[in-house]
Amino acid sequence: MDTMEKLVALCLNRGFVYPSSDIYGGLAGFWDYGPLGTEMRSNLKAAWWQRVVRERDDVVGLDSSIIANPEAWVASGHVENFHDPMVDCRKCKHRFRADQIDPNDRCQASEDGQHDLTEPRQFNLMLSTSIGASEGSSSRAYLRPETCQSIFLDFKRVMQSGRLKPPFGIAQIGKAFRNEITPRNFIFRSREFEQMELEFFTPPAEAVDWFERWREDRMQWHLDIGLPKEKLRWQEHGPDELAHYAKLAYDVDFEFPFGWHELEGIHYRGDYDLAQHAEHSGKDQSYTDPDTKERYVPHVVETSIGVDRCMLALLASAYSEDEVANEKRVVLRLSPRIAPVKAGVLPLSKKLSEPVQRLAMELRKRFNVAFDATGSIGKRYRRHDEIGTPYCVTYDFDSENDQKVTIRERDTTDQERIAQSQVAAYLSDKILGY
Ligand code: ATP
Repeated sequence: MDTMEKLVALCLNRGFVYPSSDIYGGLAGFWDYGPLGTEMRSNLKAAWWQRVVRERDDVVGLDSSIIANPEAWVASGHVENFHDPMVDCRKCKHRFRADQIDPNDRCQASEDGQHDLTEPRQFNLMLSTSIGASEGSSSRAYLRPETCQSIFLDFKRVMQSGRLKPPFGIAQIGKAFRNEITPRNFIFRSREFEQMELEFFTPPAEAVDWFERWREDRMQWHLDIGLPKEKLRWQEHGPDELAHYAKLAYDVDFEFPFGWHELEGIHYRGDYDLAQHAEHSGKDQSYTDPDTKERYVPHVVETSIGVDRCMLALLASAYSEDEVANEKRVVLRLSPRIAPVKAGVLPLSKKLSEPVQRLAMELRKRFNVAFDATGSIGKRYRRHDEIGTPYCVTYDFDSENDQKVTIRERDTTDQERIAQSQVAAYLSDKILGY
């Protein structure tokens, strides 16, 4: 089995990620997050929100509806331009995204293995639905393909209600939907996913400077959540690769087990979005500086990352196999902040369960901890290593007398004995310190 196969199996067996509606055969491009995946996603989103919103005084949050007035998607250019080129093989009937055909892919219906491809056709990636009782084009609406458009739509209200002035940013975490031609590579490319996006509105003259600052901040965040430096790189979009709205664009690429791919996009979008919405809605989107009386449409620096793609990057880089005391183990080396369970709380013997349950109850007020009394202590450590639990707290027969417990660290397997009353502070220090 290669790393991806092992990872997918671990995610399925331990409750990180399952295929959606699996008992009916699943649905391509849709996934469910199990108990551990749900905790991990929530930690990841909290780490992003903490850095991008809470630690700053110039960024505020938004939680907008998934469906907006369809005119918004005409103005944004998505109805006309949000296409991928699609081709079909006339022999095996498989469908491909024309710019992503694997040269090693063989046609199963032809003797020479060569596909007989149609000319590329443009395929719009927006998923649509209908609103209200009547069917037809008048009731058609779109599930948003990105979270950022509603940030532009609410820009003026947020600015006015918060008495903000550029430079300032609006951040949002939420679901996005794309009818991807070929969803693949597990949760890397799905049809329903979640994005964490920031639109930072600046006076035009300051935009390039902010673009550079955000590039630096975002790369630092990737390192802080535990992605290895050598698996991250910048990829600049050349002039012919730039999206129609972008003036400057860099991707943070990550080395996934199936190669280097985009993890996050950082784009300088000029005033394209606000100008488009001003034109289509007839509502002015400019800002007048009260001091200088200068009136301008703010320029935008965007940072956009997929929660699911980032989950995959974290899981793939954390997955490792090593040997402890001549025994093989699988260990997820997730950073303590991101790990779904912060500590396993283990009684050495079932007889000691009661005081350990009490300790677990205490710790639960602040951390996601798991009480685990079944199996040998070694087995329990292995189980926690496999799901990335950074610490195991073991209560033994001496604990009754000295009120101390043993804390075992996942990566080094080092153990130290500390006072029971210090466990919460110990964990807090390790987890919040990244
Ligand atoms: P790609 O070229 O891989 O299709 P994109 O350039 O269309 O991606 P953006 O529109 O820039 O992607 O979206 C911003 C981020 O949203 C991406 O960097 C990625 O992390 C995430 N993302 C985009 N599409 C998907 C998808 N289908 N599944 C999961 N995450 C996605």
